[in-house]
Amino acid sequence: MRAVKSVVPTHTVLEGGGFKVRRPAAMGMLMSPFLLLDEMGPVDYGPGEAVGAPWHPHRGFETVTYLMHGEMEHEDSAGNKGKLTPGDVQWMTAGKGIIHSELPTEKMMQEGGLMHGFQIWVNLPAKDKMMAPRYQDIMASESPIAQSDGVWARVVAGECLGVESSIDTVIPITYVHVKMEKGADLLKDFEVDLNAMLYVFKGEIKVEGKKLKDGSLALLTNGSQVVINATKDSEFLILAGPEINEPIARYGPFVMNTREEIMQAIEDYRNGILA
Ligand code: FE
Repeated sequence: MRAVKSVVPTHTVLEGGGFKVRRPAAMGMLMSPFLLLDEMGPVDYGPGEAVGAPWHPHRGFETVTYLMHGEMEHEDSAGNKGKLTPGDVQWMTAGKGIIHSELPTEKMMQEGGLMHGFQIWVNLPAKDKMMAPRYQDIMASESPIAQSDGVWARVVAGECLGVESSIDTVIPITYVHVKMEKGADLLKDFEVDLNAMLYVFKGEIKVEGKKLKDGSLALLTNGSQVVINATKDSEFLILAGPEINEPIARYGPFVMNTREEIMQAIEDYRNGILA
């Protein structure tokens, strides 16, 4: 049975043009294979206030965007273009390089509105860091939902309550958005050795007697399952993946294994050959 190994507090920062995100105070090596966990908002924009991330590069990992409220538009150097609305997921494997923009839709910019979602960075093993970039867009209507007594779960990647995602991940990843009513229980199976964590963003849950409040990231011990009890109406993410036991060299939007590879990424970007 998995228990809570440690709890990492979160803090709220303003990114880029004033984009509000809440993120764990420590990530990276701590929670391999995840490099970053950003809760975007919730923020209620007025007309003309919504901001996003204009054109920027990535290399060496994956960015996964999941929206719960609001609308975003993405466009990239490979000619992909799409719109994300609530419940949609964009799984982007940057691999050897992509340049993209992630912005609120024109409508959202003009009219404003509630924005709430997640962007998670998933690391790639050294042998896959320079793979060909790819996109997987999963619309809310195609996204598998698992349900049991007082439990609703969107299975973005991996499996929950016997329901499986169709998303193709490079390394085995579990990514589940769970809503639980007060008093409900959820038993989630895992492969014993995978690193697993819970990020609570509403209410309060309990794991093996340990209470986890809104805004906490709990790293779990290894084991084949976890039992989660909701002590309030709650929402949280279940994330799991393998330990990538390799050095991390990180500079802004590039995540490689060595400093030389980072220098190469910067040079390739300057020379216009990153993507
Ligand atoms: Fe990006």
